[in-house]
Amino acid sequence: MLKIDQIWKNILLAAEAKTTTLAYDLYINSLAPVGIYHDRLILLADNRAIKNIVDNNYKEVLRKCTNQVFPSIADVEVIVESELENVGNAAKEVDIPVSSNYVDDTESKVNFVAQYTFENFVVGKSNEYAAAVAKAVADNPGEKYNPVFIWGGVGLGKTHLMHAIGNSLQRNFPEKRIMYVTCDQFVNEFIESIHDNDPNATKNFRAKYRKLDVLMMDDVQFLANKEGTQEEMFHTFNELYLADKQIILSSDRPPKEIKIEERLKTRFATGVIADIQPPNLETRIAILQKKCSNKGYTLNIRVLTLIAEKITNNIREMEGMLNRIISYSTLVGGDPNDMSIVQEALKDYADASTDIITIDQVVKAACEYFRVRREDLVGKKKNKEIVVPRQICIYLICDILGQSVPLASIGEYFGGRDHTTVMHARDKISEEIKTNDITAAQVKDIRDKIYNR
Ligand code: ADP
Ligand code: MG
Repeated sequence: MLKIDQIWKNILLAAEAKTTTLAYDLYINSLAPVGIYHDRLILLADNRAIKNIVDNNYKEVLRKCTNQVFPSIADVEVIVESELENVGNAAKEVDIPVSSNYVDDTESKVNFVAQYTFENFVVGKSNEYAAAVAKAVADNPGEKYNPVFIWGGVGLGKTHLMHAIGNSLQRNFPEKRIMYVTCDQFVNEFIESIHDNDPNATKNFRAKYRKLDVLMMDDVQFLANKEGTQEEMFHTFNELYLADKQIILSSDRPPKEIKIEERLKTRFATGVIADIQPPNLETRIAILQKKCSNKGYTLNIRVLTLIAEKITNNIREMEGMLNRIISYSTLVGGDPNDMSIVQEALKDYADASTDIITIDQVVKAACEYFRVRREDLVGKKKNKEIVVPRQICIYLICDILGQSVPLASIGEYFGGRDHTTVMHARDKISEEIKTNDITAAQVKDIRDKIYNR
């Protein structure tokens, strides 16, 4: 059985080679596979404009790529969300023949993102240590730094660095068994392996991970609260580590702040720990320039500076804005360096994010609800009447805004508090709402207020 994601990934590999980077990035790679419906592969476009562009320009190439790898899929069809119900029972998993072009990445043969290389990784003060460590393990896996633990906020290049290590290892040590998994993938595979009580499934799962020369696991903070997987990871770790096999981990926080069993935390922290901080303005501009030259965009420094000034702590978002300007100017047939076009594109961007809740909105709702003054809520007062609302407010910010706001920025907002204070407040309330009905009701009321329910 092949999952729809595996199928789509394979078609993307073929399509990437056959289309320009711009078309690939903006249109093809933005489609989401829905399933197989009557011999057709159904793809979901974000909006009608994208659907039309794909239908008119890239349908044929998509059809060819699909046929090349999966001869039994007759056609591809692009739909928009409102048409989803028509294909409600599209199969998410199918048993179909594959051609010799099919790439099976479920085994240790991995496809690292081709663009995520060291050459494409711009080094600045904020990431130079992490980049140096990554380079060192790529050159001498299993020798000096083990395990390597890279941590930092969302969109700052952790996954990029891991793929860069992978790309380099694959080139220089083709005989080595290298595996990159996201933590979620590992968790799911582990659960699947124990699901059927099939001793072979468990054995295969273990063998797969314990025979590796290099194991990279991305976003290990998601091991929190998954005791079974933590135990499995602990044994996998030990086996690899004792055999001098390279282990590389990433997380959005340092090992000591991950909510996992102590012995695993200690293991994660025994090697090198390297953090990545948000890059400064110059580095952000340099990263944008790199992206432009890779994708063949010709944007001038004025536009790039504007983007780099608007978005300060998430490179993925910066790229999103860059793509938005290019795609907007392509759609309207304008010059992406024309400031009025840029402004229009960004207005569009802002409109698209108007339903995103801001910290200010959450704080305002909490102040009104608890009848406290904003200065007090974000200030230094330590009396209970303020501390509890403050913690609830911080919890709600983390919960609603999620990873889009780094904990350090929330701490900054609340009178320059440390990110660990933010984490403490968040975790405390998160536990409390499970046992304390009053707290749970307060959180719900404020949430309703924010969403105007
Ligand atoms: P994380 O895994 O930390 O959330 P990613 O590795 O996914 O972040 O990076 C997000 C995007 O930003 C990717 O497209 C990546 O190529 C880009 N990026 C991050 N840091 C750099 C850098 N120093 N140089 C070039 N691109 C970068
Ligand atoms: Mg990542």
